[in-house]
Parts: sequence; structure tokens; C-alpha cells
Amino acid sequence: MSVGNGIPGLRGTDHIGFTVPDLDEAHAFLVDVLGCDEIYRLGAKRSSDDDWMLTHLGVHPRTVISEIRFYRLGHGANFEVFLYEPADGQNPQPRNSDIGGFHIALYVDDLDVAVEYLRSKGVDVMGNPTASKQSAEGQRWIYFRSPWGLQFELVSFPAGKGIRKKLVRTPALASGIPATMRTEKDARRMSHGATGAAIADSLRERILAGAYVPGERLRPDEIAEEHGASRLPVREALRTLEAEGLIDLVANTGAWISRITMAECEEMYQMRERLEPLLLRMNVPHITSALGDDLEALARSMEQSTDVERFLQLDRDFHLSSLKAIETPVLGPTVMNLWNRTQHYRRAATRLFYLEEDRSVHHDHHLIVNAIRNGDADEAEQVLARHIRRSRLELSRHPEVFG
Ligand SMILES: [Zn+2]
Repeated sequence: MSVGNGIPGLRGTDHIGFTVPDLDEAHAFLVDVLGCDEIYRLGAKRSSDDDWMLTHLGVHPRTVISEIRFYRLGHGANFEVFLYEPADGQNPQPRNSDIGGFHIALYVDDLDVAVEYLRSKGVDVMGNPTASKQSAEGQRWIYFRSPWGLQFELVSFPAGKGIRKKLVRTPALASGIPATMRTEKDARRMSHGATGAAIADSLRERILAGAYVPGERLRPDEIAEEHGASRLPVREALRTLEAEGLIDLVANTGAWISRITMAECEEMYQMRERLEPLLLRMNVPHITSALGDDLEALARSMEQSTDVERFLQLDRDFHLSSLKAIETPVLGPTVMNLWNRTQHYRRAATRLFYLEEDRSVHHDHHLIVNAIRNGDADEAEQVLARHIRRSRLELSRHPEVFG
């Protein structure tokens, strides 16, 4: 997954651990105020007669961990919250200016709404929001304190940061996207028993979110272990994903995230350019006004989104839901397969127009919604063909995407 130097196989920050004086108080703050979900608890960890605690955790050998709780907050790194019984007393909490001082920053869509909410909950919010300058221009931030003194921060930069305009284009493409953290939905699915379908769902979500790079190998035994499943449902899941065009399976050898060449991508986009408008034409008479409203809302959200991943998800929802108003047993799955196989490259193209702040993609979406609402299948077809064509041309100008 990782490209270039550094820890082999690195995926990103998994969790942040911190110690609190009172777990119930911390739980109330994390869950009721911040909105965390508790994931699980671990019981006491101690070592009565050796140096295990010192060697492995760097604390006094007779110190005890009374309890550990894991929390998830939105899409960020998890929190591992400790309650210790230190054998050698307690140091004061470090300030921000002390070595070891740290804070945890949370991203919110609307800083003022979030600040008002925290104040209404009696949280110690520190001063008024500060507007950042230079590279962070466009960002506002503010600190607040948890009941035990750990500092948190709220940040928001709904229109992006200054640095975004200076980003070099190619590195973002070559490195792909860091692995996404497992979502709540995944966790729920897993607790319901890991069938092949559930494993396929969770892998599909991760593949589409860019957690793997094309050509990356999937290890069935690791997948089985991660889902607490046997090899059989994993094999079933892999076969499903192969049929959907997401992975390539080689009998008795292994599974790889499907990778296509530039020529194959060009071919698939040419196919999409012709097939998808036809499929949309077949759907137009069956799109209800309620679905029309949904499509319009998706088009608006895309316009407002400042995050590539969010945009990709909305764009996929937008197009695929406009193509599923009727059952098309041949054309539907074919188009779906082409979408899946080109997803990684679409992400790359999207990064380009995001950096270039190309608005034409949003105009297309609104034109498509209008055409659908007017029952004008000809217009819908033409706009969609142009929409796909533009991505194809964008991609053909960037062979490095297929590296
Ligand atoms: Zn689109």
C-alpha cells in the first residue's frame, strides 16, 4: 500500500491512547458530549512479580491498568482510554508548552454551530475562534477542555485551505488514498456474523474507498482472520467481487485488486460513454419525482463538498441511482462492472479537477437532473455522454495514473 520510503505496509494512524482519572466521567464526555461510540472494554492488566509493565509500557513494574476502553469518533482515529493505578504516584498533566503536551483536533462542518453546542453542554471552550493565515488560510480553530483537562480542538475549513491551491498534481495521484478506517456499518455487519455476503460488502466498501491500490494482493487468510470467518465464506466473497469487476482471481494462486492499463481504461470509458446514456434513457420514464428530488439534493451536496472521497461517494450515488429505476438484467450489471473497474482511475481524475476547481462537472449534474425532470431522455443522454467523455479525456492526458 505505501509508496516510497517509510514503514512497509503502513496505512496511517490507527488510534490515539490517553489516560484519564475517571473512566465514567471520560465516558460521559466522550459519548454524550463528543458523540463517540464505545467499541469494547478490556479488563485489568498487571504483573505481580516481573518487569513486564516496565519493559512493555515504560511504567513502574507494580503499576496496574485497571481498565481500557476503546471509542470511535466519526471517521477519525479511535481513542484508547486508560485508567491506571500508578504504583509511584501521579505527575501533573503536561501543559501545551510542556514536552509531551498534546491535543486532539476534531474536524467539524460548521465551527460556530459546534462551539455553540459545546457551550450549551457546559464545556470549557477557550476564547473565540481564531482564523488561520498563510498555508492554513481558510481554516478557523478553537480549543476546549475535557473535564479531566485534556485539550481538544475544533477545526473547520469548509472552502479548503490556502495550501490546497499550491499542491503539486502528480504526487497525489501516484500515492493513492490512505486506508479508510473501518466504519460503524462494518462493525455492525461483523457482529451479525460474517457470512460471505457481509465480507464481500466490507471488502467492496474498502476497495471502492481506495484502501487498496490496483494490483495489490489480497490475502484470503488475513481476510478470514480479520472477519473471524473460515476460508469458505472468504472464497465466496472473493468470487462475488470478481464477478463485479473489483478483483482478479487466479485459481489456486490468489486474488489481486483489479488493475487496468491505460488502453483498457480508454476502452471501458468508450463503452461507458455509449452504454450508460442508453441505460439512462431506459430509466428516465421510470424516475419518480421523489427520486428526482434525491438526485437534485445529491447534485447540490456534491457542489458543496470540499472532500474528494465524499464527492466520489455522492457522484456514485447520483449516477447509479439514476440508472436503477428499472430492472435491466443485461445492461445494468455491465455498466456496474465498468464503474467498479474504473473507480480507482475515476478517483485520480476527480483529484485533478478538484485541484483545478473545474466546475463543469457540477453543471452537467444539474443539466442531467433537469432533463430527467422534464422527461427529456435525449438531452439526459447527451449530457451524460459528454460528462463521461470529459473524464476520459482528462485521464488520457495523465498516463502517470496508470503507472
Ligand atoms: Zn458525475
